[in-house]
Amino acid sequence: MKVLVINAGSSSLKYQLFDMTDERVLAKGICERIGIDGHITHKPQVEGKAVFDEDVSLPDHATAIALVMEKMLSAESGVISDVSEIGAVGHRVVHGGERFSASCLIDDAMLDEVRACIPLAPLHNPANITGIAACRAVLGDVPQVGVFDTAFHQTMSPAAYTYAIPYEYYEKYKIRRYGFHGTSHRYVAARAAEMLGRPIEELKLISCHMGNGSSLCAIDGGKSVDTSMGFTPLAGVPMGTRSGDIDPSIIEFLADREGMTVDAVLNVLNKKSGMLGVSGVSSDFRDLWKAVDAGNERAKLALDVFFHGVAKRIGAYAVAMGGVDAVIFTAGIGENGAEEREAICKNLGVLGLALDTEANKVRGKEKDVTAAGSRGRVLVIPTNEELVIARDTVEIVGA
Ligand code: ADP
Repeated sequence: MKVLVINAGSSSLKYQLFDMTDERVLAKGICERIGIDGHITHKPQVEGKAVFDEDVSLPDHATAIALVMEKMLSAESGVISDVSEIGAVGHRVVHGGERFSASCLIDDAMLDEVRACIPLAPLHNPANITGIAACRAVLGDVPQVGVFDTAFHQTMSPAAYTYAIPYEYYEKYKIRRYGFHGTSHRYVAARAAEMLGRPIEELKLISCHMGNGSSLCAIDGGKSVDTSMGFTPLAGVPMGTRSGDIDPSIIEFLADREGMTVDAVLNVLNKKSGMLGVSGVSSDFRDLWKAVDAGNERAKLALDVFFHGVAKRIGAYAVAMGGVDAVIFTAGIGENGAEEREAICKNLGVLGLALDTEANKVRGKEKDVTAAGSRGRVLVIPTNEELVIARDTVEIVGA
């Protein structure tokens, strides 16, 4: 079966077409600036087919999907000969609230429940729903599956997901920790078990997904038991532009001193904080290292705040699980950042974990980078959320 994987944002749409007979990617690409002007980058992964990279008019997501189909079928950059070859579509859906603890076939009732989660993810879920509607408009009744960022974390216990605020707010508004990046944490945990040659049921893992957004997850026996993001993806460790956890009193204090609305303060915490906010240089770790080399103290401080935040939480999760068999690093920084991994692991000896600095000189490849004599393992595992979405889609549609 060929499966189209869609990750729809408010003005963008990323896609990958998989041939699930061998899990090969046939084509991938991105439509950007949808509803503004429009641009498509279509990259066939098949010999002899041309990359298509052009400004095009993309008034809406349905036009974008129609164009993606046109490229998939075209003589120059196509990889299929008929749309009917696409057996199913898998969608990334950000928030499934408490309703979805696993991926799910999309129908009208299911879509209503995703709509009901919009207050929990006002920026993301409407875009995901638009992507689903666009696929329906263009592909008709090809089965579609929703794969939720939050689903993996639905195994957390009330002790881990309950915020210590009046319980009525949980009952009334479902305010609680949900967690995100679940598809990524699930994928790397399963890979870790395979790499270690041990059943996931007997492993205590800490997965560090470190990209523009970062989150950590404690995975005990294959189940998420705690995670650093919370009610929204603003919480947890410091990120590229997001603050991560702060004292909530700062919001009122800043609003008062700076004459800002709460909305404006939250905008600062989401878009102008984190590495960018502390360094004043950039949200991108590569830029931060360059600035450090040029003697920029605040870039150094930003990195130190990140390392401190991540390492401290690894310690917390080891305690929460009563041990740790492996720490996993994934996503842009986790997969590529050797210096970052080394800095984070500096004090993990107390948990019986040590990284081998020579083995750690690796970028974007699966590798065990544990030092000799270390009780637990340190693993680098590139994530593949699209593949998980494609696999779930095949499983659900096949059933
Ligand atoms: P997203 O969360 O948007 O998917 P990514 O997973 O692509 O983000 O991660 C982006 C981050 O990864 C950026 O901060 C970038 O600096 C970092 N990164 C990418 N390549 C490297 C590298 N070679 N070394 C260190 N950091 C890197």
